[in-house]
Amino acid sequence: MTTVQARPEGATTFESLDPTTGDVVATHPVHTEAEVREAVARAREAAAWWSALSFDDREKHLTAWKGVVTRRLAQLADLMHRETGKPHGDATLEAALGIDHLGWAATHAGKVLKRRKVSAGLVMANQAATVEYKPLGVIGVIGPWNYPLFTPMGSIAYALAAGNAVVFKPSEYTPGVGEWLAQTFLESVGHPVLQVVTGFGDTGAALCRAGVDKVAFTGSTATGKRVMAACAETLTPVVIEAGGKDALIVDADADLDAAADAALWGACSNAGQTCTGVERVYVHEQVYDDFLARLLDQARGLRADAQPGSQLGPITMPKQLDVIRSHIQDALDRGGRAVLGGVEAVGERFVQPTILVDVPEDSLAVQEETFGPTLTVAKVRDMEEAIERTNATRYGLGSTVFSKARGMELASRIRSGMTAINGVITFAAIPSLPFGGIGDSGFGRIHGEDGLKEFTYPKAIARQRFKPVLALTTFTRTDKAEQQLAQLVTMLHGRGTTIPKAPRATTGGVNRRRRTR
Ligand code: NDP
Repeated sequence: MTTVQARPEGATTFESLDPTTGDVVATHPVHTEAEVREAVARAREAAAWWSALSFDDREKHLTAWKGVVTRRLAQLADLMHRETGKPHGDATLEAALGIDHLGWAATHAGKVLKRRKVSAGLVMANQAATVEYKPLGVIGVIGPWNYPLFTPMGSIAYALAAGNAVVFKPSEYTPGVGEWLAQTFLESVGHPVLQVVTGFGDTGAALCRAGVDKVAFTGSTATGKRVMAACAETLTPVVIEAGGKDALIVDADADLDAAADAALWGACSNAGQTCTGVERVYVHEQVYDDFLARLLDQARGLRADAQPGSQLGPITMPKQLDVIRSHIQDALDRGGRAVLGGVEAVGERFVQPTILVDVPEDSLAVQEETFGPTLTVAKVRDMEEAIERTNATRYGLGSTVFSKARGMELASRIRSGMTAINGVITFAAIPSLPFGGIGDSGFGRIHGEDGLKEFTYPKAIARQRFKPVLALTTFTRTDKAEQQLAQLVTMLHGRGTTIPKAPRATTGGVNRRRRTR
């Protein structure tokens, strides 16, 4: 079995391993704190050049890089396959989606961030008001191993397009993909605007303290808290893209074959190692048996192994095997049943698809991120209960609704950053949609207009066009000006009618509020 990567005391290099075979893929430097600071200093120099370019010129450079990455897609996918074990097809899909995001960020940055006029309002009618979004400087990007290209690209592409330089710390499991990105960028653009530092958690921690202007972290909630604590020392802002416990709900009128297909792919693709992967399913009681039968029918053909053409790869991070095993065991100990797989499905490198039913809602498999090809399926009396259970989690990343008539209504009531209706994880592949969560899934957004703005600060400018009729911001302000201001404000804002108070409920609203607190 592949051993867990631990940092040997004083090691200056480390090896990335193929999780399928345990073979060494490559050796990489462990960058020290001083080396991380040097990388940030180089990035700051590069940022001065990069941020001075026009949006059009940056778009040209990013398009050149995108072309190189696209033409070498097969090479990139092969490296991703070797470092994570994911099937070649999945690696190609991941890289293709990352490239699409890069293209969107490059072509939309100007439109979203350039200076634009806004109304100054009647009170300040003598002013011309503009807002524009300026790059922050150097962004530290810390990425996970499960989607080593797509996930960091969600920060890197948008940060670069907004005019920042980036120092990227990839996971110790996937350092090669990070180096590949930085190398191809340098080849395409000729300036070290994107750099990579490699190593273990210490290197990531050093990046947080190296004077970057923002940290974009993607990884577990626990590490996200450590990153935030380190960034707090220097008031460095952070974006946290953390874990999830996403649910899929199936209404009585849903297309059950499509819902079963989505649940299975959402749970098992990438061997279940997806932050927005489906981990829980809530099905209307009228279609529960039918849905479960179809799900099992589809799932029985799926196997995780090292055969060429296999659709499921290994578990990339070996210590995750214990987490997956413990969640299944806990579910079974508390009265759950494995209708497919079970504890014995957890092997030395691979985990076979596991479907659990009758699992209590307070068990680990329903509450904690499992990050394996497992799924709990529960019967609910109606969609009210489905939403209630879906929302009873401290996470809030993605979610899925299968319903013909009520998709939009149900989706809008789920407390999560993103929802797919009659599809699964589709929101991640739409570059114009913001990606991110709430609660323990983190905060801030990558992708879309919000993702571009995340790596900027708004610059507001008010320019006086002519002398004000009402001179207000001066010690020469007159009583007359004050009276005129009061009249103007009354005219503009004084017309709202008071909303009559609802009669008090006899049970006492105060007590009820107290109880729900
Ligand atoms: P980790 O939290 O273990 O690591 C994430 C990154 O943080 C790695 O590069 C890691 O380096 C680095 N790191 C570790 N310790 C520190 C530290 N003290 N300071 C700074 N950086 C540190 O997550 P995983 O790599 O295991 O990724 C899986 C997790 O990521 C899952 O919870 C998953 O849900 C989440 N995820 C969230 C996504 C989202 O967009 N919301 C997308 C994809 C994944 P090293 O690897 O060297 O330890």
